[in-house]
Amino acid sequence: MSIALVLFRRDLRLADNPALTAACAAHEQVLPLYIHAPQEEGEWAPGAASRWWLHHALAALQARMRERHGDLHLRQGDDSLPILQDVLRRTGASAVYWNRRYEPAAIASDTAIKAALREQGVPVHSFNAALWCEPWRIATGQDAAYRVFTPFWRNLRSRLTGAAPLPPPSPLRWGQAAGGVPLASLKLLPRTGWDSGLRETWTPGEQGAQEMLEIFADDALGDYAQARDLPARRGTSRLSPHLHFGEISPRQIHHMLHARAQRMDAARRPDLEPYLRELGWREFAHHLLYHFPATPTANFNARFDGFRWAGTDDALLQRWRQGCSGIPLVDAGMRELWHTGWMHNRVRMVAASLLAKNLRQHWLHGARWFWDTLVDADLASNTLGWQWVAGCGADAAPYFRVFNPVAQARKFDPQGVYLRRWLPELAHAPLPLLHEPWKDPVLLRHSGYPAPIADLGQSRLQALAAYRDLRGD
Ligand SMILES: Cc1cc2nc3c(=O)[nH]c(=O)nc-3n(C[C@H](O)[C@H](O)[C@H](O)COP(=O)(O)OP(=O)(O)OC[C@H]3O[C@@H](n4cnc5c(N)ncnc54)[C@H](O)[C@@H]3O)c2cc1C
Repeated sequence: MSIALVLFRRDLRLADNPALTAACAAHEQVLPLYIHAPQEEGEWAPGAASRWWLHHALAALQARMRERHGDLHLRQGDDSLPILQDVLRRTGASAVYWNRRYEPAAIASDTAIKAALREQGVPVHSFNAALWCEPWRIATGQDAAYRVFTPFWRNLRSRLTGAAPLPPPSPLRWGQAAGGVPLASLKLLPRTGWDSGLRETWTPGEQGAQEMLEIFADDALGDYAQARDLPARRGTSRLSPHLHFGEISPRQIHHMLHARAQRMDAARRPDLEPYLRELGWREFAHHLLYHFPATPTANFNARFDGFRWAGTDDALLQRWRQGCSGIPLVDAGMRELWHTGWMHNRVRMVAASLLAKNLRQHWLHGARWFWDTLVDADLASNTLGWQWVAGCGADAAPYFRVFNPVAQARKFDPQGVYLRRWLPELAHAPLPLLHEPWKDPVLLRHSGYPAPIADLGQSRLQALAAYRDLRGD
């Protein structure tokens, strides 16, 4: 009997899973395996919100496999290789299948495991399940990595076909193995009950991802280009955590939206381009991380290495993290993040800009906080987002463009719906004071809302001066 191990990692789905499909096609039995070895991810082991998600995503995948009379075999340890070797020995499996990951530590670990298994005569077959186009398959005319989004996207967009995704392999024949551990023993869930907001907000798993996509296609896709910047609206897909954990693939999303649009008459057909372009940013983030693997901690633009940061200020950082900066749009975002594990993209940019520019705290402080608190924490996208806002990234916002949180709130939350939702102290504050509560000391005193952490105008000028020093002006 020919048996294959299918190692699940960030591809926690049955449909459009090329490693699973290939293993099912080539072997009489497949044993799905998940190895929890967070140490292998180095300093970017999953944060608390990601661990919460992972627990529920694994539970959902187990349930789907059990419905099909199989199971997801769970193991844990410091090192995946000896565990894989043990499972191979116990089952007599003759090959290993997996879908590729793109983080530097994951690439190093996968490369070493592949070499060791091949040496002992076990072939490893790897596939792309996460991206439209793997980072090494796309290059500039000079055969170099892209550093600018627009030409990258033009190239990638021209390759997209809307090809149909793979169906879940059927019928599946599942292998069994002794020595597995129960999900609870991975200890992914928090010991204290801070996760109630996450539970209210999300349904991790393949089914949850499909439902989220349906909701988006029904309610928001048609208006995406306008509504995607309005944090009070449910104007975006909220698929980022599902994409990060591989509960859905970009190919599935593209195919479903394209097929649905084709069924509509031309007058009502939504324009998919603005949405596909955002998925393009995700691909660009992976392209950059692959070609510039030091960037999770090093400035992409090395000229920023001499930037005059203000020096770590724990009190400031604490206020920013806790949503007590006294800047309403930033605090609303940071509280949304704490409660739901997610923050609207527009607000992410504004909150990040306040930290890296007005407060001149190193962008890594923010990246690390997001890493711990976002359910969609993703090394590629988080690095790109922070470096873009800080001004030191590829194709970054110029440093001199400092987001004004008041102007941003007036423009994108003019009635203060989002602010009132997350800032109960200011729920009854009238406009326009809601956007600048410090202008009324009585309001501040009575509401208990904090005074601003910085003078926005002055701190902007200080940031610009630090930038001028860097340029030697
Ligand atoms: C400082 C900062 C940190 C960020 N950290 C992360 C992160 O850790 N993980 C993460 O997935 N995104 C991150 N983003 C990007 C973006 O904010 C989220 O992808 C988006 O808010 C997710 O919501 P959505 O699924 O509703 O997006 P939609 O608007 O529905 O977009 C669809 C998908 O496109 C991708 N996408 C959209 N915008 C971006 C972008 N700017 N960069 C990369 N991919 C994008 C996401 O996969 C998203 O799910 C960050 C942005 C900033 C400014």
